[in-house]
Amino acid sequence: MTTVSATRAAQPTALAARSGEPTLREGAKGAAVTQLQNLLRNKGYNIAADGDFGPKTEAAVKKFQSSKGLVADGIVGPKTWAALKGGAVSNPGTPAGGKQVTAYVQGRPSTITVVPVGNGKYLRADAAKNFKAMQAAASRAGVNLTANSGFRSMEEQKVLYQKYLNGTGNLAAKPGYSNHQNGISMDIGNVGGYNTKAYNWLKNNASKYGFQNDVRGEFWHWTYKGGGVA
Ligand SMILES: [Zn+2]
Repeated sequence: MTTVSATRAAQPTALAARSGEPTLREGAKGAAVTQLQNLLRNKGYNIAADGDFGPKTEAAVKKFQSSKGLVADGIVGPKTWAALKGGAVSNPGTPAGGKQVTAYVQGRPSTITVVPVGNGKYLRADAAKNFKAMQAAASRAGVNLTANSGFRSMEEQKVLYQKYLNGTGNLAAKPGYSNHQNGISMDIGNVGGYNTKAYNWLKNNASKYGFQNDVRGEFWHWTYKGGGVA
């Protein structure tokens, strides 16, 4: 018989089994290191999530391993990954698939929880909840809304800003100053223009979910302003 507690207990194992993370040690660089650093930050370790596995990250890994009764060798293998992720699953308030990231508002960093909204994109948890509700309502009206862009890291915004400066990309806010970096703005796919069924549906309904089309000339760019169903 399956009980609620048995189902919950099984989750960390399932997550670890499908994760397939690489073994990491000092000197490693890249997205997996950033993921590791964000998981450590979730546990309260004060390190940068810069994708560079240096001495501070190694020290945090060793402390974390000690706290979990693992061999404190500073090498992040399957057991350490599982321990890091297992804790995240049972952490109340982090929705399924959610992760903590460094957000920026007016140039100032803070940590927020973002959750997936499809296409590999993320929004801040309250904005995501409203986008999903809005997407479901739109779908019932025959309008297919997708996420073309959501939360952006500092690195992602820097790339877009440079393209804008070079004249090869859309208008992009200065890094640190985009609402995409706060996880509340998204670029919605399939809108197609201002005079479309999708745009008119959004114009009439998005405010119920707290979203506004707040950049002139960008029919695709919608920002969650609060309220809605969250
Ligand atoms: Zn945008």
